[in-house]
Amino acid sequence: MINFQCQRCGACCKIVGELIPHLPLPIAATLSPLPNGWCKNLQESDDGTFGCKIYEHRPLICRVNWVTKRQMRAANIDEDTMLQMTYDACKMLRQKFKDKENDTISKT
Ligand code: SF4
Ligand code: SF4
Repeated sequence: MINFQCQRCGACCKIVGELIPHLPLPIAATLSPLPNGWCKNLQESDDGTFGCKIYEHRPLICRVNWVTKRQMRAANIDEDTMLQMTYDACKMLRQKFKDKENDTISKT
């Protein structure tokens, strides 16, 4: 069994600005990004990790477990495969965000 644990890096909430054009209006309004593209509900903790200010009321699109389980059932995918896909997606997002940050830094 793959042991996937969210690192609370916030990368998946920091790319909301890029997703907005593809989201239904009510969800876009809930997430409405800040000028830097981060979801307005993203909150940084003192230890540098990130959390969600509206966690209990976050939209379904943000509920990875709920979405993941539905996708698994629909596509007949086993849990290990889905966890591996989730891990790969997080890794890609984290790298993408790191690249974006470096790009911003190099332009300033
Ligand atoms: S990108 Fe992955 S590891 Fe980072 S906060 Fe989102 S779910 Fe967690
Ligand atoms: S609502 Fe919460 S979980 Fe969803 S993108 Fe914003 S900060 Fe992340």
